[in-house]
Amino acid sequence: MTHPAPASAALFDRARAVIPGGVNSPVRAFGAVGGTPRFIARADGATLTDVDGRDYVDLIGSWGPMILGHSHPEVVAAVREAAGLGFSFGTPAEAEVLLCEEIVSRVEPVEQVRLVNSGTEATMSAIRLARGVTGRSKIVKFAGCYHGHVDALLAAAGSGLATFSLPDTPGVTGASAADTLVLPYNDQEALAAAFAEHGEDIACVITEASPGNMGVVPPVDGFTQLIRKLTKAHGALMVSDEVMTGFRVSDAGWYGYESKRDGYPDGAADLFTFGKVMGGGFPTAAFGGRRDVMEHLAPAGPVYQAGTLSGNPVASAAGLTTLRLTRELDVYPRLEVAADTLRAAVGEALTAEGVAHRIQSANSMFSVFFTDREVRDYDDARTQDTQAHAAFFQSMLTSGVHLPPSAFEAWFLSYAHTDDVLDRIITALPAAAKAAAAAAGNAAEGSES
Ligand SMILES: *Cc1c(COP(=O)(O)O)cnc(C)c1O
Repeated sequence: MTHPAPASAALFDRARAVIPGGVNSPVRAFGAVGGTPRFIARADGATLTDVDGRDYVDLIGSWGPMILGHSHPEVVAAVREAAGLGFSFGTPAEAEVLLCEEIVSRVEPVEQVRLVNSGTEATMSAIRLARGVTGRSKIVKFAGCYHGHVDALLAAAGSGLATFSLPDTPGVTGASAADTLVLPYNDQEALAAAFAEHGEDIACVITEASPGNMGVVPPVDGFTQLIRKLTKAHGALMVSDEVMTGFRVSDAGWYGYESKRDGYPDGAADLFTFGKVMGGGFPTAAFGGRRDVMEHLAPAGPVYQAGTLSGNPVASAAGLTTLRLTRELDVYPRLEVAADTLRAAVGEALTAEGVAHRIQSANSMFSVFFTDREVRDYDDARTQDTQAHAAFFQSMLTSGVHLPPSAFEAWFLSYAHTDDVLDRIITALPAAAKAAAAAAGNAAEGSES
């Protein structure tokens, strides 16, 4: 039984009258877990407070951006100051230069960036640029990777589409998806075969740097490097989508983590996309890469791309202050310790109840799969017992812990998830594991990686 949430239920009714499904982004509707989505009135640190006055430990973190926790006083001050100077000018301003300099200083292969308003715009623009630069039409994406709701990238996407098992979406024409080749993630043979057959027509391969939208499915040894090698050999570009992992899994994102761990013998990606953390909770995102590629963009070059609110000064101030604080506060090592603690506790609780599970990580970013098989691609991810997840989710919610309402999403920790906060989550785990066991009715062994 879930806690009653009368004020949220009343708002959800009103919302459904004026907003399709009552939400402005599908997963928020609780369709996969049932019950009433909580309408949040305010948030501070690691705590969400709903309109019924209940507090929850937040493990959504706005799906990634809130890496410092909510309402960090220094970010609030920076936003207030920027807002006092004007909201949007439609002219260049210093704040956007500072934010772009910060990104360029952190991610070594990125020499220039263009600011946009969402991750969707970043990937859409990166694809256009790759096509403009190469004069080719085909793009390769991987099943289960989500790159925003760009038409050409909605074939076999993860995130909300995984949650609802929509195979494809009406409204995307055959023509706009026809140039998209969808391959299984982590499948080196399929990638090599696609290049053998279509190599001369492929403008780019776009991949989540380390996928997090079918749950967390890191690249197997050598997979990132193979994408780089094949794209280079065939004159295609490699686009690494770091909208989720960027400035979260290390101060230079997945690039920083993996290049240090494994090395990139054939170099890094040509283009990167960023969003989420770099906006600190405001709508700003970016794509960037080598100067010789980026300078194909208007007005330096012929590939058109623009935005009324792009480089917004208030959003730029929020993003810049957030990024600076991740270093000043030494946020990344802290996230790793917190993730270790929580992964161990979740594994222990689920194992104690015999719930089939697997915890997978991209450094401090992780997700819990309700399956006992290793998850290397989207097909593996879909073997999950979503009933077990739903029961687990509802029990945690009743105990005051707000997980992402989908089995296909990462759990987002922040700097505000202190030991006390982690203890509140850990205390809620045994009951949730019991609920999952009852819903699943199985007793398979769990495993971790
Ligand atoms: C969230 C996300 C996007 C889309 O970003 P929006 O700001 O929601 O448009 C794109 N790619 C990845 C990897 C993401 O996680």
